Amino acid sequence: ATPPFADAEALLAGADAITVLTGAGISTESGIPDFRGPQGVWTEDPAAAALFELDTYMSDVDVRRRVWQLRLRHPAWTAEPNAAHRALADLDAAGRLRAIATQNIDGLHQRAGTDPEHVLEVHGTLHWVVCMACGLRTPTAEVLERLDDESDPRCVRCRGIQKTDTISFGQRLRADVLEAAVAAARECDVFMAVGTSLAVHPVAGLVEIAVDSGACLVIVNAEPTPYDAVSDVVLRDRIGTVLPALAAAATQRP
Ligand code: NAD
Repeated sequence: ATPPFADAEALLAGADAITVLTGAGISTESGIPDFRGPQGVWTEDPAAAALFELDTYMSDVDVRRRVWQLRLRHPAWTAEPNAAHRALADLDAAGRLRAIATQNIDGLHQRAGTDPEHVLEVHGTLHWVVCMACGLRTPTAEVLERLDDESDPRCVRCRGIQKTDTISFGQRLRADVLEAAVAAARECDVFMAVGTSLAVHPVAGLVEIAVDSGACLVIVNAEPTPYDAVSDVVLRDRIGTVLPALAAAATQRP
């Protein structure tokens, strides 16, 4: 292999604890569009971002109706993990993965076989719905079944407004999950950011925490990110091709 790929291979082969931050870019090859890439949801329809603000969602029933319809048709329900998700599961099986902090809500890392305890869903999950009034949690599939009769499905216990257990703009991240992600960023030899524009905070701050703690930084992303300049290696290639090769190099070390 030629640099910079060989440099990334060497860094991963030498690392005992690898923390990976993933974004929407790792799931585009599973058919789930990203937000800010060339064919991203918000690149194509900038107004769609307004649907994901907590205040708007809570105060406007029409917004909730539109969001539930989007949830119903979300590509994640039929998506399968791709070669990159499987490569990270292999890294986990080899005992080299400290954690995956993911901004994705699709659950594909767990589906690929990564130990669920090693997957930190910092922006929540599409697979659960939470009542914003009483906190009751219901599998999303059950709530979507009721969508035929109700366009704004309410909590079966208290009639409160429900939302998928995903983080909207203006909504605080879960402190315990974020803390675990910070610890994983601090306690790794290599921090690898995959398929994320690193534009959303506080998650992008994990990169700084890892670098400040002495980790090497590897970025795999088709487009430039604000952290390329502090990265040891930047690979602007297809994630589904790069990750299996990197994981193989890392797990086949002598
Ligand atoms: P983003 O859309 O801001 O950035 C994705 C990046 O991945 C882009 O820079 C793009 O160039 C790159 N990319 C896409 N496909 C690639 C490929 N095959 N190979 C190499 N690079 C590729 O995504 P983000 O940084 O994760 O932030 C978006 C937010 O949207 C997150 O908060 C996340 O919660 C949410 N989101 C999640 C999903 C999901 O669950 N799959 C999908 C869309 C958005």
